[in-house]
Amino acid sequence: MGEMLSLDCVVIGGGVVGLAVARELAMAGREVVLLEAEPLTGSITSSRNSEVIHAGLYYPTGSLKAELCVAGKQKLYDYCRDRHIPHKRCGKLVVASNEAEVAYLEKLLKQAEANGVDDCRLIGSTELFRLEPQITGFAALVSPSTGIIDSHRLMEAYVADIESHGGSVVLNSPVLAGELLGDTVRLAIGGLDPVEIEARLVVNAAGLDAWTISGGMVGLDRKTMPERHYAKGCYFSLTGRAPAERLVYPVPEPGGLGVHLTLDLAGQARFGPDVEWVETIGYDVDPRRADTFYGAIRRYWPHLPDGALQPAYSGVRPKVAGPGGGGGGDFVIQGPETTGHPAYAALYGIESPGLTASMAIAERVARLTL
Ligand SMILES: Cc1cc2nc3c(=O)[nH]c(=O)nc-3n(C[C@H](O)[C@H](O)[C@H](O)COP(=O)(O)OP(=O)(O)OC[C@H]3O[C@@H](n4cnc5c(N)ncnc54)[C@H](O)[C@@H]3O)c2cc1C
Repeated sequence: MGEMLSLDCVVIGGGVVGLAVARELAMAGREVVLLEAEPLTGSITSSRNSEVIHAGLYYPTGSLKAELCVAGKQKLYDYCRDRHIPHKRCGKLVVASNEAEVAYLEKLLKQAEANGVDDCRLIGSTELFRLEPQITGFAALVSPSTGIIDSHRLMEAYVADIESHGGSVVLNSPVLAGELLGDTVRLAIGGLDPVEIEARLVVNAAGLDAWTISGGMVGLDRKTMPERHYAKGCYFSLTGRAPAERLVYPVPEPGGLGVHLTLDLAGQARFGPDVEWVETIGYDVDPRRADTFYGAIRRYWPHLPDGALQPAYSGVRPKVAGPGGGGGGDFVIQGPETTGHPAYAALYGIESPGLTASMAIAERVARLTL
């Protein structure tokens, strides 16, 4: 092993959440180095999602997902406006395809209100037809504050803030091993220039690999680590014009929000993600999964033409609860009090709405560690 560097704060993982955390710590005056294994920032889960700014409708009141989604959404819209990050507050519809699902929408409206999302309303099929003539349903919940964002431009802005506050983002730097010492953490970094680091604060924001990093951390009480589960989600893109101007969601399924219509900022439509519980990470999209997509989509868009769906991409959700646990599970954000070590913080299960919540998650981490 080569030289040994002594640092103040190290953030492991340059996805949207690690970048937001590094930004927050740097803006609080700490000296921050972010280590990213890949040659690019944001190339894993932060590139493999729906790029939706979620309103915060579904999550149980009092959960971190509910609190940090609602707080993060507001921060994100303000930041997008100030920094000219491409985004659009296009709104979203959750569509009930039968009478039984209408009861679910009524519950969802109450849940949204309890979470502090007070701009939603229920509409009937006539108003649904007026808003989105191609989408059919018994009723729908309208969420005006849902939007879409260019997540790569967001991450570029986070990097710019880190650097302008004296921090640095170091690519091609996989963390290989670590050890909790008295009041510091020692890390072994691989890549072209292997180095050892000793830091006064380490934040593990490695997404899908957060468990691997904590699992290899000598001295960490393994009982602090939550369960690890992975739920893959595939997307199919639509050939032809988008059937709606708003995002369109069905009533959710366990583990995900249901195969929904999302739009990118160019107005192109894609559908997904579905839910497949997996043991290992792989991103191929099996074209045969389209079969179930056609059925799911035609419940709210009956005129989806045959052959219009093309396999697009996939992402994997890091989760702390598996199918047995109902597919739910909250974000887990551990400061020194919970990891049991004064210099170690760790984030697990940062699935959706992690992009939306990124700035609020970062504030929470700063509060727990500074
Ligand atoms: C299918 C899907 C759809 C989603 N849709 C939405 C949505 O519409 N809206 C929303 O708000 N959220 C959504 N999310 C959630 C959102 O994408 C994530 O919460 C967010 O991207 C997580 O960011 P992260 O920084 O925690 O993880 P990641 O983006 O995975 O970043 C972790 C980084 O750590 C790096 N790393 C790993 N191991 C090491 C190591 N040993 N050393 C150094 N670096 C390492 C990785 O290379 C990676 O870059 C979705 C997620 C999925 C899977």
